[in-house]
Amino acid sequence: MFIEPFISIKNKKDKKGHIEVICGSMFSGKTEELIRRLNRALIAKQKVEIFKPSIDKRYHDLDVVSHNENAIRSTPVNFAEDILLLAGDCDVVGIDEVQFFDNHIVHIANVLANGGKRVILAGLDMDFEGKAFEPMPQLLAIAEYVTKVHAICMNCGDLASYSYRLTDTKDKVLLGEKDSYEARCRKCFYEGKS
Ligand SMILES: [Zn+2]
Repeated sequence: MFIEPFISIKNKKDKKGHIEVICGSMFSGKTEELIRRLNRALIAKQKVEIFKPSIDKRYHDLDVVSHNENAIRSTPVNFAEDILLLAGDCDVVGIDEVQFFDNHIVHIANVLANGGKRVILAGLDMDFEGKAFEPMPQLLAIAEYVTKVHAICMNCGDLASYSYRLTDTKDKVLLGEKDSYEARCRKCFYEGKS
């Protein structure tokens, strides 16, 4: 389990920012892990702001909601740039579904961290074809701390890293839940595709 290198520094001038990335397939608990870290920061009386791309309207508009309905208030934004304007003087910035932003999010994450903020990003590392989901590779490269979480293969019960699409749609972005995707291990993912 991820242990924070530090949570609270009293003197704001001594604050150093950093970037944490939580990645994995669908149903791997990325959002739950993001919420866990943000809740601990809140307990430490840190000022926390949470954002997500407005493309993700699967659940309630103003909440980062994980599959187990453990929710935390968040602000939907259209562009990565908006996060800079809205983050204000907070200590911790959480961003969910970060794979839906364009590559500009890499610059934004650096600006936030260089400004002394703890930046926690959660998102899919691979798309439904098993290819790297941009801009995630860039974010993994610049992060100080990377956590890959795993789901359980819904086919064989092994650990799963892939999001297997159950429909024929070829669009990269298909928002959906258990009717559209299942988590699969490498073997079941590639055997299912062929
Ligand atoms: Zn499997």
